[in-house]
Amino acid sequence: MTARRTMVAKFFGRLLPMSLLWVLAFPAAAWNAAGHRISAMIAWEHMDAPTRNAVAAILEQHPDFEHWQLRANGADPDLTAFLEASTWPDDIRRDKRFYTAGSEEPTSTQPGFPDMERRLSWHFVDRPVGWYDRLLPSPGVIDRQLVALARIVGDRKEKPSARAYALPWLIHLVGDAHQPLHAASRYGPDGRSDQGGNRVTINNPFQPHASSTSLHRYWDDLPGPPWLNGSRLHSTAIALTSRYATPAATGTPEQWIDESWQIASEHAYPPEIDAAPTITADFHNQALTIANRRVTEAGYRLAALLQQLLR
Ligand SMILES: [Zn+2]
Repeated sequence: MTARRTMVAKFFGRLLPMSLLWVLAFPAAAWNAAGHRISAMIAWEHMDAPTRNAVAAILEQHPDFEHWQLRANGADPDLTAFLEASTWPDDIRRDKRFYTAGSEEPTSTQPGFPDMERRLSWHFVDRPVGWYDRLLPSPGVIDRQLVALARIVGDRKEKPSARAYALPWLIHLVGDAHQPLHAASRYGPDGRSDQGGNRVTINNPFQPHASSTSLHRYWDDLPGPPWLNGSRLHSTAIALTSRYATPAATGTPEQWIDESWQIASEHAYPPEIDAAPTITADFHNQALTIANRRVTEAGYRLAALLQQLLR
């Protein structure tokens, strides 16, 4: 173990219990529902018919499939299930059937679910902006879960209920992996993590009704309003795919997370970090461009991944 690594390990040994609190306290979701739906809409548009059919057959086995159809509003049931699945891992944060490990008693397991844990640690990985050491443990495990879930979804010998449980998570986490602040946190001199910008208050003059918010929430909300759906969702997805071409390579979950970490290190934080910084027009325009590009890339990559796993 090098001297630096020893020092780093000590540093983290001190702050890890604090980061573990993040798993329990992590208040914001991820991209809001709009970000996840846009990525899912783009993915749907780019999947071939056999992949769409395979996705639909898996999601039909999900215990909440019928509930999702209540929100179809005349849309294709397969597309409805796919869009609803993309936000399902966030929806269960407010669902009383589920519980948060470490702060709530387990709730009784409903048919079709492995258990009712909310798995808040699956949504992110905690890597310090500017530098990180791959050997350091993170309370968040999105990197490992993306790999594990893809394996389950792609394995035709797995139980249908296991694949139906894994697929909404996989759809959702491909989106989260592209949100820069789901891959990075800034650490203060006291060793405390800002929890992916959740503990950074900013003033956002471009959102006059809720100008004081967390930096994490600011990024989550950039792709669009949470109610974005229907024809406006479709036109948003079309506009984004005409603006941003398919990424040269689909890449791996590790590469998507590395990209997010790099973006977070360079562009996610306003330059002034003390007090509550005010978002400038330049910062806002750049952040909007990054967020739009990332949800579009997530959509293209989700389509490629599912096609590779299911065709
Ligand atoms: Zn999430």
